[in-house]
Amino acid sequence: MFASNLDTSLVYLKGVGPKRAELLQKELGISTYEQLLNHYPFRYIDRTRFYKINELNPDMPLVQVIGRITSKETIGEKHKKRVVAKFTDDTGTMDLVWFQSLKWVEDHVMRSSLYIAFGKPTLFNNGFSISHPDLETYPRQTGITGNLTLQPIYNTSEKMKKGFLDSKCIQKLIHHIIELHINEVRENLPAYILEKYKLISRKEALIHIHFPANTSTLQHAERRLKFEELFFIQLQLLYNKQLRSLKFKGALFNTVGEKVNTFYNTMLPFDLTNAQKRVIKEIRLDTQKGIQMNRLIQGDVGSGKTVVALMSMLLANDNGYQACMMAPTEILARQHYQSLVDLLKGELISVAILTGNSTKKQRTILHQQLEAGEIDILVGTHALIEDKVQFKNLGLVVIDEQHRFGVEQRAKLWRKNVVPPHILVMTATPIPRTLAMTLYGDLDVSVIDELPVGRKPIETKHLFEGQRMRMFGFMKQEIAKGRQVYIVYPLIRESEKLDLLHLEAGVEQMRYQFPLPDYQISIVHGQMPNADKQYEMQRFIDGKSQIMVATTVIEVGVNVPNASVMIIENAERFGLSQLHQLRGRVGRGAEQSFCILMTGNKLGPNSKLRLETMVKTNNGFEISEIDLQLRGPGDITGTQQSGVLELKMANLVKDQIILQEARNTVIELFEKDTMLELPENILLKNYINKRTRAIAFDKIS
Ligand code: ADP
Ligand code: MG
Repeated sequence: MFASNLDTSLVYLKGVGPKRAELLQKELGISTYEQLLNHYPFRYIDRTRFYKINELNPDMPLVQVIGRITSKETIGEKHKKRVVAKFTDDTGTMDLVWFQSLKWVEDHVMRSSLYIAFGKPTLFNNGFSISHPDLETYPRQTGITGNLTLQPIYNTSEKMKKGFLDSKCIQKLIHHIIELHINEVRENLPAYILEKYKLISRKEALIHIHFPANTSTLQHAERRLKFEELFFIQLQLLYNKQLRSLKFKGALFNTVGEKVNTFYNTMLPFDLTNAQKRVIKEIRLDTQKGIQMNRLIQGDVGSGKTVVALMSMLLANDNGYQACMMAPTEILARQHYQSLVDLLKGELISVAILTGNSTKKQRTILHQQLEAGEIDILVGTHALIEDKVQFKNLGLVVIDEQHRFGVEQRAKLWRKNVVPPHILVMTATPIPRTLAMTLYGDLDVSVIDELPVGRKPIETKHLFEGQRMRMFGFMKQEIAKGRQVYIVYPLIRESEKLDLLHLEAGVEQMRYQFPLPDYQISIVHGQMPNADKQYEMQRFIDGKSQIMVATTVIEVGVNVPNASVMIIENAERFGLSQLHQLRGRVGRGAEQSFCILMTGNKLGPNSKLRLETMVKTNNGFEISEIDLQLRGPGDITGTQQSGVLELKMANLVKDQIILQEARNTVIELFEKDTMLELPENILLKNYINKRTRAIAFDKIS
């Protein structure tokens, strides 16, 4: 049976068969015509340029030469057997060599025919040769792939190549599909959008993405497919957001009561910044609408997110609700708990903590108190999500996250109350705008873009190994003023032992070359028992030690305002956001703080850019933009698995304008047509319906 539509299994495609179909499924997750059609090339090779044999040099990558096969012979024995053909043009002769598929070559490669040979030239015995060239008869045939100028190159795996499914073969398969079925490709964007943004049709785009006639048609195809990709992500995000606001009622926090007022008037040790006030106001407005709040707070290290979270939780308490605050690690949860207890001076409300380390006995008591409504704020780790944790009346969840929670985890939180609690997400590091739009596009966003007054910007310096004595001298000077110092060593999991040696050698060197007899050093690293770590940290927090030498364990969780110098060893080995996070450990008090980045002399271009960026700016948003450009989105957020960022075409760094266009288009269309009921939006309605059904189906199976 020959297939007649794009949902057909690839088993039925000419040249596939069960074995290759299985390979495609296993290696690329592709099983239908349509899916293969949506498997785009990852690059193209320019096939417009032809070389003469006397122009070749061994440094060239792939080249193509037009010539005639003048002789062909099979030489060698057994596994050394090969076919060697002499290939000649008007400037010289070269060899074409095959080690495999010899039978095919013997039967099909014709003497005296004109061919285009394509491959990597290598120099051998004073002559050039190409092994396993792509051979095409010359002149080229026409057709969709005729006038081949840019040859598509597809991702394949080793296993696929062994199964004779190389890039060239995929090209052929896609060519078949296009020849036979391209007219079945349906447009998925409304005509008015195509027109407004001058986008080519889906059908044209698919032809040109696989077989571009030239770079201009390729660009049009790319633009169209990028727009489409980003558009549908935004459509889904904003549709979800809209649906949520229609479906989910939210607790009403109408009253600013005794708890908020007492805290604000008698306990808050400083004035709020304007940015903090603005964000609190946004939260106030959100929680008076009767709709579930889903808000993201972005703010740089030290911008004061904790107190905003606390005041929001007190607001929940004032209105008869409980609140909880969830952190990604145990250390961070403890620190939050401590900050809240300190800010509240242990009065006003009852705060409790729950982590993976809480004992069974503690939990039993806690569960009872929670259900009885005796606990107002619960701080903790993922342990909070467990089904056993039930609240009397949970009204607000604050998530201080580094990793986005999965849908299922979120749903669990929501189900902890009849009316789903309001959700406040706080990001630990600023995220570039484009990333936020994609990753958190369904949330409302507040930005704390102002640091508390009196904070002096941290001064950052980059020093090379040869300037180490200068660094020691500076350190001594600061310690003499009563300050404390961090020295941080990188930690890479594969070589934990080696890293530890670095740290220990560093300490030895310091003690030897730079004796500080009156001063104490605390050492903290990941291989120490927890209790020792706690003890050493506490010594530093209490000011009993002046220097804290540590691996990156201190990245989160330590707050010592008197520490004013951050020295980062092997700074070239850290990522930008990590450097920024580490630097954020100082600059927390009233004193001028410093960050010193120590590196070796040899630095790659990316390391240089990272260090220069750190020296130049303290602005976390600026840093995150550069980080995004250097590393790509997946690494930054650790969310590759979440699926949100598995973009096939678009690039969040390069395609910011298209992203903005796509998002604006969606915002406008929802303003006009909330439920996608206009005939012009029927395609979009279908898309959403289909996706919703697919998700529902996933849940059942
Ligand atoms: P982050 O946004 O990194 O979580 P924190 O909430 O931990 O920042 O605040 C950093 C420090 O700044 C804390 O010691 C906090 O008490 C202090 N702080 C917060 N807001 C203000 C403010 N408006 N004025 C002065 N200090 C503040
Ligand atoms: Mg914080």
